[in-house]
Amino acid sequence: MKRVNRNPYDDAEKLSDLDTRSSFSRDSDKKWGFNLMQLMGFFLLCLMLFSVLFSVSVVLRDPPSDGIVEASTSVVFQAEQSGGLNKGFSGSVELPRDELLGGLLAAGFDERSCLSRYMSGIHGKGLSGKPSSYLISRLRKYEALHKECGPYTEPYNKTMKELRSGHSSGSSGCKYVVWISFSGLGNRILTLASAFLYALLTNRVLLVDPGVDMRDLFCEPFPDISWFLPRDFPLTTEMHNLNEQSAQCYGKMLKDHSIRNSTVPSYVYLHLAHDYDDQDKLFFCDEDQSYLRKVPWLILKTDNYFIPSLYLMPSFEQELNDLFPKKDTIFHFLGRYLFHPTNRVWGLVTRYYEAYLAKADERLGIQIRVFDTEPGPFQHVLDQILSCTLKENLLPDVNRQQDTVLSSSGKQKSKAVLMTSLSSGYFEKVRDMYWEYPTVTGEVVGIYQPSHEGYQQTEKKMHNQKALAEMYLLSLTDVLVTSSWSTFGYVAQGLGGLKPWILYKPENRTAPDPPCQRAMSMEPCFHAPPFYDCKAKRGTDTGALVPHVRHCEDMSWGLKVVDK
Ligand code: GDP
Repeated sequence: MKRVNRNPYDDAEKLSDLDTRSSFSRDSDKKWGFNLMQLMGFFLLCLMLFSVLFSVSVVLRDPPSDGIVEASTSVVFQAEQSGGLNKGFSGSVELPRDELLGGLLAAGFDERSCLSRYMSGIHGKGLSGKPSSYLISRLRKYEALHKECGPYTEPYNKTMKELRSGHSSGSSGCKYVVWISFSGLGNRILTLASAFLYALLTNRVLLVDPGVDMRDLFCEPFPDISWFLPRDFPLTTEMHNLNEQSAQCYGKMLKDHSIRNSTVPSYVYLHLAHDYDDQDKLFFCDEDQSYLRKVPWLILKTDNYFIPSLYLMPSFEQELNDLFPKKDTIFHFLGRYLFHPTNRVWGLVTRYYEAYLAKADERLGIQIRVFDTEPGPFQHVLDQILSCTLKENLLPDVNRQQDTVLSSSGKQKSKAVLMTSLSSGYFEKVRDMYWEYPTVTGEVVGIYQPSHEGYQQTEKKMHNQKALAEMYLLSLTDVLVTSSWSTFGYVAQGLGGLKPWILYKPENRTAPDPPCQRAMSMEPCFHAPPFYDCKAKRGTDTGALVPHVRHCEDMSWGLKVVDK
């Protein structure tokens, strides 16, 4: 990382210095009309002017449109020097463009087709930590497998015949896991990351059911071959009707004693949704994995981030430790590897960021998700938001006695607050508070909320595009406040590499006291984990088995990975 001085006062000083030196030597040497010092001075002046103009043009340019490609080799942006909302920025820094995130991303894509892949770092959000070289090598290996076995390759075509016949000879060598598009967008992002890690651990190829909107939301993450199930995939209709009662459901097969080691079915349905039963949960036992390993096609339906329970399986433990030596970076790295918003969504992100967030000294994200039968807004939720943000010094208090507070230091620090919620009520109240009264610190506080969609509209394209843009925008903040139980918030914290303050879930429509708690790790919570000891074949508290898998802050029975 190369640091260059961008202080305009320094530049001006050097320019006037150059002027003095060139005029001083003007009379002494007139061999070429101007002497060597003048020539060098002129050259240096041009160089500096060019550098200043270039920097200014990069900083002030319009937000990139879908058709614009970045051609520069470096980007100037404000980078956080010391971390934390209450610590400021110490100036602009020129960083070499690490567009492939330290090797996490594969090279060889067409930049124009997916600008977010190459520009996710421009808002000062590089990766939090360094991916292990083992993870990088396993990702490249996965990409090679995907290319070898992906849609319409020879092994894929071969296995299609078996899929139609219902029985497997296991001759093609390639095995697959199909992810079914199911549930809200936050849930889908977490389950897709879980399915990918499972594919990586079991040497399977991940194929994605495009559902109604996956193609409009995400770019292809793997080079050369699509991750989407082809339209002519023979099980498309059938697989959407699979449920825990289906004969192909693994839990049902166990209950029916229909598993025969002599014949392997061409596919098995894994029901890992929140309502799964004890037999379905045996998926998380090594013994059951050794059977599933033989099945060429696993069709997976889940609305849970199930990675914490993979950590409790001895067969995966070592591999997971090698992939993620710093344990709480799983979703952060996998999320930044897999989920690149399409140019349409990236336009929503960048236009909003440039218009409302980029120029602030500090950025705070507040994600509000209310799980109530009524839409709200509720007074107790507003009270909780204010109590958390004021108590934790994330927002300054206001002075209700004075009309104005004069700042002693000249330039006032600015804070941009990005609020997201289905309702506009909380945003309006907080915005009005900072409009009607001055802050006690003299800070200037701007409150922004991109949308207020009213209610969840999972099947609507634009609704989900806005939801994804908002998760991404929250991830670009410096400090984050999230709501309990919300996968929307988990995605934002994970992509951003942030440990949020979590607003406790209100009970009986009362603001909890304390209102919030800082998260132990940036990992999402597995909301419906099994409580079963596969070896002892009895129930156990799976949150107390190893130091790095704990119960979640926001859900006492959930499990999350922490870096212990
Ligand atoms: P969760 O229910 O909070 O775990 O998150 P999900 O993302 O799985 O489902 C909630 C869905 O409701 C989102 O995908 C959006 O469609 C919608 N939604 C919830 N909160 C917001 C919000 O703040 N902004 C927008 N645009 N949509 C939201």
